[in-house]
Amino acid sequence: MSRIGLPSRVSSALRYIWAVPATIVGAVFALLAFACGARARVRDGVIEVGGGLLASFLSALPSPMRLLAITFGHIVLGVSYVVLEAERGHEHAHVRQYEKWGLLFFPLYLGSSFIQLARGRHPYLDNAFEKQAVRVAATGRLNGTTGKQTRLETVVSRREAS
Ligand SMILES: [Zn+2]
Repeated sequence: MSRIGLPSRVSSALRYIWAVPATIVGAVFALLAFACGARARVRDGVIEVGGGLLASFLSALPSPMRLLAITFGHIVLGVSYVVLEAERGHEHAHVRQYEKWGLLFFPLYLGSSFIQLARGRHPYLDNAFEKQAVRVAATGRLNGTTGKQTRLETVVSRREAS
């Protein structure tokens, strides 16, 4: 262990600990997903859960809640591995947001959506955290991602909004 590595490891551990309450919420959904045949894998320190009946379950949700992928702390749930791969830059940007805000991310995210709604804007597409995640994914500055993102999540939301 190098002296330089220690502060980085401590910092990394603190980010995981700070996000643990949100990760626990994700773990509950992950357990339900596992019961429906989903499987997990780890990418860049994040647990990605996909497959099984997740696609059927998420497509049965009411239109505004229909998502292809969603992040809770260090757990990302996606309808398939193809979607998880395509949305990695965006969803991992949300992971960084959880590392910054911890459990506060939930009320802050909802607050941003309510503010946009009150202004007559889209509560999802204009949400400050979503816009930041889109920006981070597009610039490809997150853990060596290429910046080539399909933004399936946005495409689906826009189609449903029209
Ligand atoms: Zn998002």
